[in-house]
Amino acid sequence: MAIGRTHSVSLLGLDGAIVEIEADVSSNLPSIVLVGLPDAALNEAKDRVRSAAMNSELPLSKHRITVNLSPAALPKHGSGFDLGIALAALAAAGDVSVDSVDRVVHLGELGLDGRLRPINGILPAVVAAARAGFPTVMVPSGNADEAGLVPGIRVVGVASLREAAIWHGSTCEPVPVEAIMRPAVPVGRDAGADLSDVIGNEDAIEAMLVAAAGGHHAFLLGPPGAGKTMLASRLPGLLPDLSAEAALEVSSVRSLAGMPVGNTLEVRPPFEQPHHTASAAALIGGGSGMIRPGAAARASHGVLFLDEAPEFTSSVLDALRQPLESGLISIHRANSIAHFPGSFQLVMAANPCPCGQFGARDSECTCSPFSRRRYLARLSGPLLDRIDLQLRVHRITAAQLRVSTETSRLDTSRARARVMSARSLAAARLAGTPWLLNSHVPGSWLRAPAQRLPHPVTASIDRALERGGITMRGYDRILRVSWSLADLDGADRPTTDHVGRALYFRKALSS
Ligand SMILES: [Zn+2]
Repeated sequence: MAIGRTHSVSLLGLDGAIVEIEADVSSNLPSIVLVGLPDAALNEAKDRVRSAAMNSELPLSKHRITVNLSPAALPKHGSGFDLGIALAALAAAGDVSVDSVDRVVHLGELGLDGRLRPINGILPAVVAAARAGFPTVMVPSGNADEAGLVPGIRVVGVASLREAAIWHGSTCEPVPVEAIMRPAVPVGRDAGADLSDVIGNEDAIEAMLVAAAGGHHAFLLGPPGAGKTMLASRLPGLLPDLSAEAALEVSSVRSLAGMPVGNTLEVRPPFEQPHHTASAAALIGGGSGMIRPGAAARASHGVLFLDEAPEFTSSVLDALRQPLESGLISIHRANSIAHFPGSFQLVMAANPCPCGQFGARDSECTCSPFSRRRYLARLSGPLLDRIDLQLRVHRITAAQLRVSTETSRLDTSRARARVMSARSLAAARLAGTPWLLNSHVPGSWLRAPAQRLPHPVTASIDRALERGGITMRGYDRILRVSWSLADLDGADRPTTDHVGRALYFRKALSS
């Protein structure tokens, strides 16, 4: 008898590798043997495949079927190999065309009734199949829209193993079944979340514009009800649309996380707000079997917002240091490392003390100075070191509310236009360097003769540095923010006023 051979994809992080599936039927007792480093979920494929084939009136051979997944050293996770295994076994028994299944990459989990279930990670898997030069990929009907987002490869959506077998030349009778679909993409995700909803706190609005223009991380300190969450959730709206590459990455991470992707790539930057009880795995990624991306990976190219940041455990916060340094998340397993993108903009928020009332008017704060200090000290120095913007936000008063409703407020679309022109000024200035945004630029470059600002402009921070009021790192952060403020104003270079504003934007924790 022939050997049935087809292909599937193994995903590790967003990296897909082609796996060859071979099936051979020998004259031993009936059983299916799976070789080639399968994990537990994949091992269960044997039973799913046999039941699915039986219930599709395509019974597998009564003899021993050996299925080999290669390369053997590559770890293989999950249930997405079911369809390929079933078709390789049917090809080995002569039920479908050996040549036809060999030309196609198969992805999909089988239900016991023979229907195909959508799987997570279809988008990165089909990208891998297209890059490997395969002309055709066969996927569950419920994944067909998502697979169709990848250019350069033909997508065949099938609802059942029977439909797949008929496509590959089986002579069995077609029986229509109801395809298993995924939940629809929720529409209007951030409709109504406009910057003009933010009342008062003009400084904080300006800080969000600076954060968007320069790609700076931000820290907001203020009592409950000051609008920290509202401010942070407006930041993605101020960022430009995603590039084609970033859009594919964002949708691929969503696909791997099991979130609906729909039939268009996401072009707006994501916003993720994990709860402070989140584990390191929930934030960074992990889980057994297929490694799933965490909130930080889902926030890549967008905003990761940690409200009540001191309430996160320190090990969870420490896990953010690697992506903040490298823009990449690496998750180590016994025999593999999964990589996810991790270039998010971090916004952290904290109450001024454990009860949240410290510093507010008519404050009823009962926290001791010691517990206040200890509370904010939970935010580690190395983490805060990477945050250029650190400012206080306040609850607004009735008088401010009246004034604010009289003046015209900045809305998201006008703010985004300002951010875009600021970004293009920065990009023109940084042309020929490895950096795109002011937050990327090292202090040594900003202090080099070509960019150095004249002394009168930097007098205030020079003095603060001499007196020990700020560190050298703090000095560089102020320079970076000064440039973003200048870009937002359309200025050639920062003025005394810009440097003064930038100094103000890092005083949250110093008084
Ligand atoms: Zn308090």
